[in-house]
Amino acid sequence: MNAGASIRRLSPQVVGKIAAGEVVERPASVVKELVENSLDAGARQIGVAVGRGGLDLIRVSDDGHGVDSAELPLAFERYATSKLSSEEDLERVATLGFRGEALPSIAAVAEVEMASRPSDAAAGAFVRLEEGVVVDSGGEGMPAGTSVVVRRLFGRQPARLKFLRSPAAEAAQIATVVSHYALAYPEVRFSLTVDGRLTLHTPGSGRVADAAAGVYGQRVAESLLSISLEEAVDAAAETDALSVAGLVGAPPLSRANRSYISLFVNRRWIRSRLLTYAVEEAYRGLLTAGRFPIAIVDIRIPPGDVDVNVHPAKTEVRLRRERDVFSVIQRRVRGVLSRHSPVPDLSASAWAGSGAGAVVEGGGQRAPAGQPVLLPQSGTLSPPPPSVEGPSPLRQLPVLRALGQVGMTYVVAEGPEGLYLVDQHAAHERILFERFLSHRDASAAERQALLEPLPVELTPRQQALVEEMAEALEEQGFSLEPFGERAYLVRAVPAALGEKDVAQAVLRFLDLVEREDAVSDRRERVAISLACHSSIRAGQALNPEEMRELLRQLEETQMPRTCPHGRPTMIHLSADALAREFRRR
Ligand code: ADP
Ligand code: MG
Repeated sequence: MNAGASIRRLSPQVVGKIAAGEVVERPASVVKELVENSLDAGARQIGVAVGRGGLDLIRVSDDGHGVDSAELPLAFERYATSKLSSEEDLERVATLGFRGEALPSIAAVAEVEMASRPSDAAAGAFVRLEEGVVVDSGGEGMPAGTSVVVRRLFGRQPARLKFLRSPAAEAAQIATVVSHYALAYPEVRFSLTVDGRLTLHTPGSGRVADAAAGVYGQRVAESLLSISLEEAVDAAAETDALSVAGLVGAPPLSRANRSYISLFVNRRWIRSRLLTYAVEEAYRGLLTAGRFPIAIVDIRIPPGDVDVNVHPAKTEVRLRRERDVFSVIQRRVRGVLSRHSPVPDLSASAWAGSGAGAVVEGGGQRAPAGQPVLLPQSGTLSPPPPSVEGPSPLRQLPVLRALGQVGMTYVVAEGPEGLYLVDQHAAHERILFERFLSHRDASAAERQALLEPLPVELTPRQQALVEEMAEALEEQGFSLEPFGERAYLVRAVPAALGEKDVAQAVLRFLDLVEREDAVSDRRERVAISLACHSSIRAGQALNPEEMRELLRQLEETQMPRTCPHGRPTMIHLSADALAREFRRR
């Protein structure tokens, strides 16, 4: 850290080399930049508070080395930084920030007040800016450290506001940012307060597992396995110049999306499809399709081997020796998984049946051997609603006759126009999606009231999601209410959720909702997620009656040929095509 280094303007040559682009896109980008500044200042305590998704208020306070009162205005000049000075410095950036752009960019789109007191100064000072111009400054009685308050973000940029999502969704993004830095800096005490409610805090103990407990909850944290250096690994690629450490979840601890795979390069949170894939590769054969691990992967390489100057928000980096990093990650993660429990090379069902001491999420039971993780509620396809005889004029599909099942995944059917292969999961998703979407209020939904309200622990991100989706969730029969700091009480769930372990089912369902973030309409998003959760899986045997019922219900839908994600529900081989293939004509 450049403790006490003074702030200077970068030379035009250096400025010219800096990746240009928008630094402040949304409230979470402001939080990210301010937290990075606090970390660069060597803070051991960082408090973040936001109001209305960060649009009304963002406050980040730290106990770092502070800024000299004389230099406070300089901090808001573009390309003024204390972190690098020459072009060569740009080749090996060791701080999170380096280009002196964040504070001026924020001040350009919000009202900002920064107060700071270096630990060796008798008193602190503050500056206040509006539209990028200092409008007030003076002395400030305060503890050592720095505090930045950002108000009315985009207040004068109404066009910008239109691109933002709801305050709850923005708060969720902020929680994601803080969560990641909390995981990357376990020695720093983080707290996040959203609309006056403390939603996340870590102890600053220096242990990643403790930080993970603050972010993901105690139970998840206890199930994580360490990939740290105690194990002997073949040192082909791994040397002093490259090391990988962190925590990964044992396979039963899985999620429905990749957002729980966190990667850090030299303690900078980055996105990388390739390295994310390295983690997934290590779990090959251990997780069912569509399930992803929890992983916190900490990559250390010499600053000269990583170019952080490729993306305006610095979330993407370029790595020299990326292939080496890939293989070290994959080997390390695979190594810890196989030591933890024998790794089967065939299928997820082999894992479930291996009887190895697997860690089980949520204290529930492990999925029985060979069974898909998400089973529909038994009898989802029955009792059959009153059936309509003969093809109705509204039908989008001809009447199909089920012939059998292929690979326990596709239903083979015959119709007047040839042969149909129907993807049972996609088809059932379509049926349920339309049914759920027709629910306009909770009375239409079939709900299952719990005899006793059930507390479930949610991550800040999930909490934000539940708040954002509140109405749509209620329409489908959920009754959830806040309970304490990070828990919710479940009073009722849609009957379709149908799993014995309701808490587990709710968490799995929320994972899906999180993953469906491309669906902007909230009712649709909840309906799609519930349909996906509740529908028959591939790999599930269906009896003839169930196949018939599936086809009959599919015929009744508005858009039988695609699943709600737009993938086809069926493949059609026309009588003509069959004749051609067999050279009958
Ligand atoms: P950068 O981080 O790229 O240097 P910023 O605009 O984010 O640019 O910050 C400008 C300068 O203000 C930093 O270089 C640093 O000297 C000072 N500064 C900003 N935030 C803090 C903080 N929380 N504690 C100490 N110094 C800070
Ligand atoms: Mg910065």
